[in-house]
Amino acid sequence: MYGLGFESWHLRSIPGIAELYAAERRDDPTRRLEFIDALDPGVPRGDKWVIMVSTQYGCCVGCAMCDAAERRFRGNVPAQDILAQIRTVLAAHPETDPRTVKKLKVHFARMGEPTFNQGVLEALEALAAEGLPGLLPSISTVAPDCPPSAAFLERLLEVKDRSFPGGMFQLQFSVHTTDAEVRRSLIPIRTWTLERMGEYARRWLRPGDRLVTLNVLSAPGLPFDPARLREVFDPAVCVVKLTPVHPTKRATRNGLLDDWRDPPERVKERASVLESLGFKVIINSPWPEETAGGVSCGQVASSVSDIRNFRKSGSGFELSNV
Ligand code: SF4
Repeated sequence: MYGLGFESWHLRSIPGIAELYAAERRDDPTRRLEFIDALDPGVPRGDKWVIMVSTQYGCCVGCAMCDAAERRFRGNVPAQDILAQIRTVLAAHPETDPRTVKKLKVHFARMGEPTFNQGVLEALEALAAEGLPGLLPSISTVAPDCPPSAAFLERLLEVKDRSFPGGMFQLQFSVHTTDAEVRRSLIPIRTWTLERMGEYARRWLRPGDRLVTLNVLSAPGLPFDPARLREVFDPAVCVVKLTPVHPTKRATRNGLLDDWRDPPERVKERASVLESLGFKVIINSPWPEETAGGVSCGQVASSVSDIRNFRKSGSGFELSNV
């Protein structure tokens, strides 16, 4: 149905939780991406199905905790190849009709900063036309401070209101710290101030919409002032998600590792302070295998240096041509 320009491989299975894929452009194998087919443990696919896709080949941001930029950045993934990632996952489960899935979450949150890629908006419009009642797209952004990203976010507001009203869209800001200088060293590009994110979040929310998620890493070295967050963000508009930092190469190198499955006391305390300020708080429970490493953003694609040779060596993963 779409002009598919890449070859994809099923790299690894985490039974009952996730299938990990990598893909390379046929015309340029240096353009590699990763995508994931995931379930919430114990929840049937018909109730909730999560597909995580890449929006760039690598990432041009280079956050201090993420391995997406470990490989050389090779540009935006076109809409047709974003859709191909989704179709590859759907095709792997012919027994499940995506039109009957209660919550089909498509998370634009593997490799790449989505607001740099107008193809993400095209992919959203194409998905909206597919007639999937449970479709719930989710976009995570560091909120780059540049005209293309600002234009993207304005158009996203329109797309959400037109095609995904009533809580069928999730927007996430990667906040991580309330200290502007530390945030700049963590996310090494110019980004919106917290105030600008807060103002946008207020404009974003319409009756029935999902609250905007503020992602906050729990690493103890990252300064975090709950009162400052409350000054800027309205708890009637935003929910806070506290997240561990998995053992990526960069997080380890940068001393940011904070790898837990059950939240430590300090994380629970942070949650209760935020709750006392009126915020709803989600403590993000990772998959068991996430804590062991190897499945965080950017790690899947960089886990095999040469995919084609690895496949020829018979190392046990399938080829799927899309
Ligand atoms: S966290 Fe997102 S924006 Fe930052 S390097 Fe990773 S993929 Fe890029």
